[in-house]
Amino acid sequence: MSLNKTSIGWCSHTWNPSKGCRPVSPGCENCYARTFAERFRGVPDHNFTNGFDFELKPDRLESPLRRRKPSKIFVGSVTDLFFEQTPDEYIAKVFETMTSATQHTFMVLTKRTERLVDWVENHLNVVPDNIWFGTSVENQRYIYRIEHLAKIPAKIRFISFEPLLGPVVVPDDLMRNIHWSIIGGETGHGARRMEESWALELKDQCNRLEIPLFFKQWGEYDAQGRRVGSRRAGKELAGKSWLEFPQV
Ligand code: SF4
Repeated sequence: MSLNKTSIGWCSHTWNPSKGCRPVSPGCENCYARTFAERFRGVPDHNFTNGFDFELKPDRLESPLRRRKPSKIFVGSVTDLFFEQTPDEYIAKVFETMTSATQHTFMVLTKRTERLVDWVENHLNVVPDNIWFGTSVENQRYIYRIEHLAKIPAKIRFISFEPLLGPVVVPDDLMRNIHWSIIGGETGHGARRMEESWALELKDQCNRLEIPLFFKQWGEYDAQGRRVGSRRAGKELAGKSWLEFPQV
């Protein structure tokens, strides 16, 4: 696994210069990456022979440089780049690649926003326009991550409200610092329900503030709260698809 095509709707590829992580908040409870990785624990010569145990993958550090076609690359789909065990020097190498591969857009999504802010302040003089920073907010308790993210002088700052596990009220003044929102329910075994009103309130706020919105999917439950499976629950909110991206 170096630079992989993905079915995640808001990016074209994933890039994992490391793998593994530990839960930090309720949104991690059914971590897709952990479930996937643990399935292969013990399989000889597999990328996930050691399951979700943390590992650096330096052989992948330069993978984006070898792809010329401009791509939207999600950085760290099976890790969190700012996970405590990722050394600062290693993160610097990841940024060297992102800064050099200007043909691509890199989407760095982290729940460890304290370390993100600290790292950017101490290591980046200027945030290149092709590096977008985002954080995940699953319920009201974690909106402080948006406050941290708002301090990053990036061209695009985004929020992933996925899995949305409760109502989230973000003050307009804070939300105005955000350039893109993703909303999604939880999928997979043990998925928790996203209530329609939680998604609608965020959608209405994004519409009002003219923040592009990507509604990824309902998850396993439909708008009425029936567990119908993610395919049947669908990808429409308020009767339409929301597949917007920020203008750059
Ligand atoms: S931060 Fe992300 S990768 Fe890490 S455990 Fe939580 S959901 Fe999984």
